[in-house]
Formats: sequence, C-alpha cells, structure tokens
Amino acid sequence: MAKKIAVIGGGIAGLVAAFRLKQHGFAVTLLEAAEALGGKIQTRHLAQGCLDVGPNTVLESNEAIMRLISDLGLRKKILWADDSSASRFILKDGNLVELPAKPQQMLLSPILSLSAKLRVFLDFFIPPAAPDETVAAFIERRFGREPLEYLVNPFLAGTYAARPDDLSVSATLKQLKTFEREHGSVLKGAFKQMKAAKTEPKKKFSRKMFSFSGGFYDVVQALGQALHDDVLLSAEVVRVIRHPRSWEVCYVQAGKEKSLRASVVIFAAPAPEISRLVKPLAPDVSKALAEIPYSPVAQLFFVYDKLRVPSPKGFGFLVPEAENRDILGAVFNSSIFPTRYEDTVFTVFVGGSRQPELLKLSDDDLRSLALIELNATLNLHDAPTAFAIERWTQAIPQYGLAHQKILDAVAALEMETEDLFFCGNWRGGISVPDTIAQADDTAQKIIAALDHRD
Ligand SMILES: Cc1cc2nc3c(=O)[nH]c(=O)nc-3n(C[C@H](O)[C@H](O)[C@H](O)COP(=O)(O)OP(=O)(O)OC[C@H]3O[C@@H](n4cnc5c(N)ncnc54)[C@H](O)[C@@H]3O)c2cc1C
Repeated sequence: MAKKIAVIGGGIAGLVAAFRLKQHGFAVTLLEAAEALGGKIQTRHLAQGCLDVGPNTVLESNEAIMRLISDLGLRKKILWADDSSASRFILKDGNLVELPAKPQQMLLSPILSLSAKLRVFLDFFIPPAAPDETVAAFIERRFGREPLEYLVNPFLAGTYAARPDDLSVSATLKQLKTFEREHGSVLKGAFKQMKAAKTEPKKKFSRKMFSFSGGFYDVVQALGQALHDDVLLSAEVVRVIRHPRSWEVCYVQAGKEKSLRASVVIFAAPAPEISRLVKPLAPDVSKALAEIPYSPVAQLFFVYDKLRVPSPKGFGFLVPEAENRDILGAVFNSSIFPTRYEDTVFTVFVGGSRQPELLKLSDDDLRSLALIELNATLNLHDAPTAFAIERWTQAIPQYGLAHQKILDAVAALEMETEDLFFCGNWRGGISVPDTIAQADDTAQKIIAALDHRD
C-alpha cells in the first residue's frame, strides 16, 4: 500500500511528528480523542488576557523548537519573557528568598545554612556510587540534606510535580550523574564544563524563556492549520489491528466505530493509553508502559486589579516540602509577560506526587486553600476579580528507577516491527522543547525506514 502514516494523539508530540512527515511528502492522518488539538498545551481567555493552560513558558533550549517555529512562520510573533522574570524565589521559614543568579553567589545566599554550604564541597571527595539511584539518594549523598530539601525538592515540584524520592537520577538529572561518572565529582564536572563553554563557539539557541501573544497555543494552531484536512478530531483510537501488509486503526467518532489503514502507526498518546492500545500486539511493552506513574496537578488562575495588587517582580516562587504548605508554588504570569496583561495574574499549582489527595477537593475548596497560601506568602489583602481552574489527573510522567528498562523495551519493539513508532513526553524529556526534539527524531527515523524500503 502507498506510504500512509497514522498518528495517534494530537498533543505537541503527535502534531510535530505528523507535520514533519507531511512536509516530507507522506500521507498522514492524525487522530485526536479530544475536541481540540494540543493535549496539555491549551489556552483560555480570562478577564483581559489569555492564560496559558499547561505550559506557561518555554525555554529556547534546543534547535528543534526554533526550527519548528521558523518553519511555521512564527518567529516574529515570539513574546520573550521580561528580563526581570530571571528572579525566582524559594519559600524558606515562611519568607520568600531570592535564588542566586550565579552558582558562586550561593555562598552569600541565606537559602542554605553555613554548615550546609560547607558540606556541599565534600562533593569533591565523595566517590561515585551505583549506576542509578533516586534523585534524593544522589543529592543527599553528594551534597547533604539541606540542598535536597531547599533546592532540589522545590525544583522537581516545579518541573515534574514530583518528589526526589520517586525519580531516577540517571533519567531525570542525567548531566549530574554523567559529571559524577566522568569527573568523580559533580562540582568538578560543572566547573570544567563552564570553563570549556567560554572557549566553545556560541550555541545557536539562547536558553531564554518565551511564549506567544496567544500563548504557546499559537504553535498548536499553526500546526493544526498546516495539517488541515489530515486531522480527525473527537476520534478516540480504540484498537490497532495487524494485517499482513498494513495496520488497521479503529476509532470511535460521534458514537460510531470507524477505521483506516496505514503502513506505519505512531503512538503519541500518554503512556497509560498506549499501554492499553498495544496490549494485544506486544503484551510485555504494554506492561512496561503501564508502570510509568503520572502525577496529578491543579492549576488555579487568579486575576487582580493591577492598581490594587501590582504584579510582583520575578518569575514566581516554589515551596519546599519541608515548609509543610498546601501548594507547590506560583507563577507571576503578568510579570513574565507584562505586555500581555492589563491585570495582575498568578497561576498557583497544587497536588503533584507530594499531595495528590488535594485534587479530590471541590473547586471551591481548592480555590480557598490556594488563596490562603497565596495571600499569606505575598501578603495580599484584596479579593481576586476573576478565577479559573484546570485539573490534570495525569499531568506529568514520572521517570522512576525502572524508566530506562521501559524505554529499552519500547525501542526494541520499534526495531523489531519497523512500522510501529512511539513518541511523547514520557520518553526523552518532559519539557515542550524536549518533546518537540523527540517527535522530530521519530519522524526522521520513519523517513529513513520508509525511504530505505523503496
Ligand atoms: C500543568 C503543566 C504545566 C507544564 N508547564 C510546562 C512549562 O512551563 N514548560 C514546558 O516546557 N513544559 C511544561 N509542561 C510539560 C508539557 O506541556 C508536556 O510535557 C507536553 O505538552 C506533552 O506533550 P505530549 O504530546 O507528549 O502529550 P499530551 O499533551 O498529553 O498529548 C497526548 C494527546 O493524545 C490524545 N490521546 C490520548 N489517548 C488517545 C486515543 N486513544 N486516541 C486519540 N488520541 C488520544 C490526548 O487527548 C492528547 O491530546 C507542563 C505540563 C503540565 C501538565
């Protein structure tokens, strides 16, 4: 049959893979279960500005994301984060402490006690340990307890909505583990890298944060327009059946079961959904994928009259678990993108694998809980003028100690079949840029495999 590719899932991973394959000249059909494209990337309009639901800022951290933005003609529309949003805060003993911008400034910062700062330097003398361990075990062993509690714990709550005890250091903080293995010390490795960076040619990407005037959803919309008739919305894939020379992808749309044929299938849905779909085809891979846990997160958006509540300086704050509070942190949206908002806007994050039970609360109770925390931390006395909430029951995949084994099983299935492929944020990084780079790679693998079959 002609080279036709079915893509299951219209989040950023599926969209990018489908776009690249269409660009190459293949016939593509993308099936998305929801009414709209984007998956975790959504936008909402509240008061006088648009809210980023899901990712609020994206980092210019690899070439794949900037190439995509150029190819979609969106470069001129980029909204760079305000310089002042480089300031980030950590809650310590109930007060916000600014994180030092440079590692050497950490020596003067009140974020760690003097004894904790001295303990960090023991890293130079501690021998490397097991090939993998949890982030918590790794950080405590090399740097001591305080950096784990007041730096790494809040950082992982803000990125993975995770606890350091649940994540594999090799899968999550690979660079630190590599420094340990190659240089015998994380600090030694980091210093060597900083020195080398001074003489290396400048990277093509700036590591600056950005979005678009309509939020990152502008990218989803542009991808949707580029794919146009090749997208089926409200089309939930329920089965994938092997035939001698093709795959049959069965989906339910408007209550009716339909199907299409494809020579290649890309699974770009969350891991639990892929696990369900591949169960009859590859039971071992299905079992492995089912083992990837996801943390739940609620995002609560609060809008205030700017004249009464000015936007505070900075990106936002993170809350260490040791502070025993009910929120993971908050982002100061209107400080990051001041031109986008006429009001002051905050996003508060609740839940994660730290407190998943909080997502059982009603919207009203979550709102009250988040407001108490926000008011206490930022010393606010006014009531918000608008409010919205978004719940993600499976927000972010957690890369645990079994993660590499799971990825190996998936890669082996790709090699064996040569016509089933997998991408998504459960593989190769959870950030939007990492997910885009990985979807690009998946498309390239398919192009190489299909062109080779001629
Ligand atoms: C609250 C939150 C905040 C975040 N903040 C940031 C940030 O600031 N910066 C950053 O870089 N990243 C951030 N991320 C991470 C990033 O947004 C995600 O990792 C990324 O968008 C995931 O893309 P994906 O395509 O892998 O998966 P998804 O977006 O989950 O897409 C999967 C798609 O598959 C569809 N699907 C599922 N089952 C089926 C089926 N049977 N048939 C058809 N379709 C199906 C789903 O409906 C969905 O649309 C955040 C994530 C969350 C949840």
